Amino acid sequence: MYDKNNVFAKILRGEIPCNKIYEDEFVLAFKDINPQAKIHALVIPKGAYVDMDDFALNAKSKEIEGLIRGLGKVANILGVSTSGYRYLGNNGRDGGQEVPHLHFHIFGGQSLGRMISIKKDGWRIKKSTQFFFWWD
Ligand code: AMP
Repeated sequence: MYDKNNVFAKILRGEIPCNKIYEDEFVLAFKDINPQAKIHALVIPKGAYVDMDDFALNAKSKEIEGLIRGLGKVANILGVSTSGYRYLGNNGRDGGQEVPHLHFHIFGGQSLGRMISIKKDGWRIKKSTQFFFWWD
């Protein structure tokens, strides 16, 4: 169930400020408060969707199109379309999703390395120069 008091819902309602990059009918994009790369933006749909499962199941076609077009637009505004970038969606518990409002990260402005790497006793996910560990 969607939590109307999650931080991105508050940003959408204007109750919390954000460093806005782009906004249209379908999406809002803003800088991540804790950047993990030289460029780190978040793109969120304006609709109340918890995650990709919720969005894929319940969003209208025009919202789905709006989100994808918004992602492309934001990459263009950030100036990373030519140099390249990574868009990433953490989904649910195992995906490491912290904010329960669907969002995509856009990382860029530097070489980001290869996707994720697996460490023997756990997962090691490379985010810029930082490493995060999950141990079973
Ligand atoms: P995730 O793990 O994909 O749910 O990531 C949530 C992201 O939201 C993190 O990268 C946080 O740094 C970011 N974040 C949390 N609160 C804010 C905020 N008020 N403004 C901008 N970014 C935020």
